[in-house]
Amino acid sequence: MATPNPKNPIFVIQKHGARSLHYDFRLEDEEVLKSWAVPKGPSTNPANKQLALQTDDHALDYATFEGIIPEGQYGAGPVIVWDTGTFKNLKKNTSLAQSLQDGEATILLTGKKLKGGYALIKTNYQGKDNTWLLIKMNDEHADKERDITKELPDSVLSGKALEDII
Ligand code: MN
Repeated sequence: MATPNPKNPIFVIQKHGARSLHYDFRLEDEEVLKSWAVPKGPSTNPANKQLALQTDDHALDYATFEGIIPEGQYGAGPVIVWDTGTFKNLKKNTSLAQSLQDGEATILLTGKKLKGGYALIKTNYQGKDNTWLLIKMNDEHADKERDITKELPDSVLSGKALEDII
């Protein structure tokens, strides 16, 4: 395996104990973090098509945020960095921005937990234009047996559990 190119953009997945627990999946693109809330979290099983609701772009420096979003603010609750690393756009000759515009992006993650190919597919489920699916691609990192959010629940930055953030 080649060493990651330091120019590769970053991804981050923040585990967020808001009103309902979800995982915020964020990809660096054109100086912002494109963002999706994934209620069930990412999977290593290609058969799991995980609903991913696109949310507002976040600033790049939010990628390392761990802490509490205070009561009264949107998304109040604890946040940990569940995984982070770099990614590669797998579509040759198409920018990530263009792929997202087209509603289908394929990326190769090099995280501490997640590795290999993932697809983001826009579905417009129930007529909503923010609904996507996050799907593990079939490759050597695909694993039907693992339940990675349960197996590896804690922060890759601090080692903290979500419950440790107070
Ligand atoms: Mn969130």
